[in-house]
Amino acid sequence: MNDSDAIRPTHVEVNLGHIAQNFDAIRAHVGTAEVMPVVKANAYGHGIVEVSWHLAAHGATCFGVALLEEAVVLRQAGITQPILVFGGVATRQIPQFIEHDLMMAASSIDKMRQIDEAAAAAKKKARVHLKIDTGMERIGVHWYSAEKLLEASLGFSNVEVAGIYSHFACSDAEDLSSANEQLARFLEALEFYPKRGLKPPLRHIANSGGILQLPESHLDLVRPGIMLYGVYPSRETKQPVAVKAAMSWKSQVVYFKVVQPGNPVSYGSTWQSDHPVRVVTVPVGYGDGYFRALSNRGSVLIRGQRHPIVGRVCMDQFMVNLEWGTAYNGDAVTIIGCDGDETISMQDVADWADTIPYEVLTNINARVPRVYV
Ligand SMILES: *Cc1c(COP(=O)(O)O)cnc(C)c1O
Repeated sequence: MNDSDAIRPTHVEVNLGHIAQNFDAIRAHVGTAEVMPVVKANAYGHGIVEVSWHLAAHGATCFGVALLEEAVVLRQAGITQPILVFGGVATRQIPQFIEHDLMMAASSIDKMRQIDEAAAAAKKKARVHLKIDTGMERIGVHWYSAEKLLEASLGFSNVEVAGIYSHFACSDAEDLSSANEQLARFLEALEFYPKRGLKPPLRHIANSGGILQLPESHLDLVRPGIMLYGVYPSRETKQPVAVKAAMSWKSQVVYFKVVQPGNPVSYGSTWQSDHPVRVVTVPVGYGDGYFRALSNRGSVLIRGQRHPIVGRVCMDQFMVNLEWGTAYNGDAVTIIGCDGDETISMQDVADWADTIPYEVLTNINARVPRVYV
């Protein structure tokens, strides 16, 4: 029995080559700006260690994650590149950031002082990126009161300010007025440096939406997440960079039957046919992260044909109506990806479930084995 026989018939296939090609396409598009691959949330479901190793070998010079724990996983996996943790820093975690040589987001003078003291105690230099809030109202010092922090940040001898950054709220929208406003506010706060005759640290604000839609926002570094995985942030986002989807989700038919009229399918009896139909069962459910909201809404591909999910999605299984189509036990079922001429994209599934592709990706949980190609 080889490895692929040992796993359940349901798996996610990750094409690391596509991720590397997307990384190259982003690098080519942003010119001189450095590219920081964002690998938070298990690399958007693709596997944080596998993706980061592949990109490090492919020339990635740094990484971005959301949590201290994610960065520690990377360090334990042997990733030595600089890592920026985007999230807010809890005081008690500061020594761990310093121990693992991780860059923190700093957004107050008070936090800078705590970081400085912890670095002095550890006899190390801490590295931070100052976080400026230009309109997201999440974390960061407001752009209109940033000057004091920028001034004070120059005076901590155990802290190196390696970068300064902000984050867009609406860079994936069709109307870019709010994103442009945020960029203007960020640039205004950055005036501090030339006014003092100082060279600014690394300046960055662009997520995937900014990379794709706001070339002026690329600055010194860009932080692509979703587009690195070959998915655009929204249907509205312009697509000047071609990227390839890295993930497909596959399963197999495990049961075939004919359902007679008047016999409803699945929990709650929400669907029945008025004529005999062929129905197959697929061993995937909301317990894997396939949204229950896809009940009677989603479709899958079997033998190159699109077929609708009928009845409720269960925890571990759902049913698909073939009408008069044919399928045998063991036939491949494509939940996300291509089969013949048909494709189901992350965005399709997101639309059916009334959510965004980000949530589709990150919702697929650890019960679904990842297979790397
Ligand atoms: C998640 C995240 C990104 C990446 O966003 P995408 O829209 O996936 O490109 C960039 N910067 C920060 C601070 C983030 O939290």
